[in-house]
Amino acid sequence: THFGFETVKLAEKQAKVDDVFHKVAGRYDLMNDFMSVGLHRVWKDALISSLRPPRTRPFRHLDVAGGTGDVAFKILEAGGLQTNVTVLDINGEMLAVGRERAAKRFPDDDRVSFVQGNAEELALPDDSFDAYTIAFGIRNVPRIDKALAEAYRVLKRGGRFLCLEFSHVDVPLLDKVYEAYSFNVIPPMGRLVTGEAEPYQYLVESIRKFPKPQVFANMIEAAGFRRASFTPMTGGVVALHSGWKL
Ligand code: SAM
Repeated sequence: THFGFETVKLAEKQAKVDDVFHKVAGRYDLMNDFMSVGLHRVWKDALISSLRPPRTRPFRHLDVAGGTGDVAFKILEAGGLQTNVTVLDINGEMLAVGRERAAKRFPDDDRVSFVQGNAEELALPDDSFDAYTIAFGIRNVPRIDKALAEAYRVLKRGGRFLCLEFSHVDVPLLDKVYEAYSFNVIPPMGRLVTGEAEPYQYLVESIRKFPKPQVFANMIEAAGFRRASFTPMTGGVVALHSGWKL
């Protein structure tokens, strides 16, 4: 049936994504710095500034597709003793790197926990988090609408949704430079550092296929979020999306 065919295709997409991150987990952080020339730190800092976790009130946070923990660690640093962050990722290898980093940077700190799970089907209760973030993760999820519906479900009323994702450059010249960089620099650089170009080829293609920011903002609203807005950064290389469960 058509339904069966679609299901197989979606499962294949997820399997491919899992394979990519399985291959790169050990070098993921290094490659992030390399390929974004350090900019991913600036983009993640913008996410944290927008979130502003409270320092003196309880704050339950969920970071989905949290990988090696970058966003979670920044939230722990910005928040207070009553800040709790759950890092959820589908990939055990990425989480293992995250756990190791957490043990070094936040020894014996039980404010952070790591769980393996799928953004499309969170094994977490309704109305249980103050905020939800997903950084460079939603692009990899086969059914984005399902992930958004799950984000909405697990957030409390008044809860915040924030998403960082690669977007579309619409600055003349910068678009050409970016395209050349994406297709001619990223895959070979990936091969040089990790021995494989293919995962990086996938990365570049998945960025191209991701919806334009206004379309993605509409999807966020379709999931039930209010006041959906977005802020392009670095000429549109990345966009920070925001929504509220009101
Ligand atoms: N958020 C981290 C960061 O910004 O450095 C990691 C981003 S990494 C590019 C994408 C992550 O999404 C990977 O760790 C991958 O395992 C995870 N991922 C892919 N599909 C997922 C899914 N369906 N549910 C949860 N995580 C998923």
